[in-house]
Amino acid sequence: MTIRDLLRLAQIDPLEARILMAHALQCSRVQLVIRENDALSVEQVNDINALLQRRLQGEPIAYLTGEREFYGLSLKVTPDVLIPRPETELLVELAMEKLPQAGRVADLGTGSGAVAIALAHTRRDAQVIATDISDAALAIARHNADHHRVTIQCMRSDWFDRIDGLFDLVVSNPPYIAASDVHLSQGDLRFEPSSALTDHANGMTALSAIMEGARAHLKPGSWLLLEHGYDQAIAVRQQLIHTGWSDVQSWKDLAGIERVSGGRWDAAAPEK
Ligand code: GLN
Repeated sequence: MTIRDLLRLAQIDPLEARILMAHALQCSRVQLVIRENDALSVEQVNDINALLQRRLQGEPIAYLTGEREFYGLSLKVTPDVLIPRPETELLVELAMEKLPQAGRVADLGTGSGAVAIALAHTRRDAQVIATDISDAALAIARHNADHHRVTIQCMRSDWFDRIDGLFDLVVSNPPYIAASDVHLSQGDLRFEPSSALTDHANGMTALSAIMEGARAHLKPGSWLLLEHGYDQAIAVRQQLIHTGWSDVQSWKDLAGIERVSGGRWDAAAPEK
């Protein structure tokens, strides 16, 4: 059996098959092409077939290879954390824009650490605190931060439960999918931790808790930025406006969907 033979037999997308083969053989995809006529050992064939089979059963590529790129950084991912999505880079870009020099920022529900690490990697001046309720997730965030040599403080907290002090920015990509959403039983989401995807209710529980808690944790005039679902921008803006936030607005992702909403908290301003 050669790489070429296996590729021809693979029943999955050819690009995915190449990614999995390169992973199994611990080589680059360029090397796969160079070595495509080399004979593989029985063990190598078995390893590759096992991965192809798991992919055929629907397991996400990122869990099979154990990594996913986010904001130009390769991050370790396991089924303990959500697989970072490209649309979440919008949250990072907005965070960079809103975070003052040497500012203190909290990333709540950090998962793999994607948002916190991307921020800390680009903004060396920032003091980044990354929280999660899952110890398993925090261990992965810690690993990723160390791997990329960025300084972030990882701590276990249920949203603001164990958070002290004031921040110049709070960001979060919380579980916002409604329990009834059919997407939960489709594609990669079937294999991701449900606690990272859904609040097991109408999708607004975590978003609301963060909007509520952030009021006591932001310096005057500082921003809260929340990623949310494709149909939640209006609900998030409404809650922010009704609870006294300023400059409430939403931003569109590359697909043109309002994906992040936020506002500034000015404790000194009269409640509206
Ligand atoms: N953006 C993810 C999805 O739609 C969900 C992420 C989340 O719930 N925070 O698949």
